Amino acid sequence: MEKTKLSEYKNKLETERKALMGEISKLEAPQSFGDDVDDFEEKTDEAEETGNRLAAAGDLKKRLDEIDVAISKIRQGSYGVCEKCGSEIGDDVLSINPEASVCKKCSVS
Ligand SMILES: [Zn+2]
Repeated sequence: MEKTKLSEYKNKLETERKALMGEISKLEAPQSFGDDVDDFEEKTDEAEETGNRLAAAGDLKKRLDEIDVAISKIRQGSYGVCEKCGSEIGDDVLSINPEASVCKKCSVS
């Protein structure tokens, strides 16, 4: 892969990584719901809300892992190669999804 393209993807990945880290820390930050914790209904809402936030943080962390893998591949020089079939993933996929680890064909099957 061309060096200019590679550094372009690397920049994208690092920007996305920072954004994700920010989002995750926001989602995981302890929430203050005020003092009226005696209200049962409100308690249930709060528990649900916390559950949703943690689930969302979990999804973002998975994404973060994929980005970390992609960045380490760039360092090792194996970026842009499909993990399943070993062929090039291609710019059409990487430009939309720079953390992609499989080519178009393999992501469908
Ligand atoms: Zn493939």
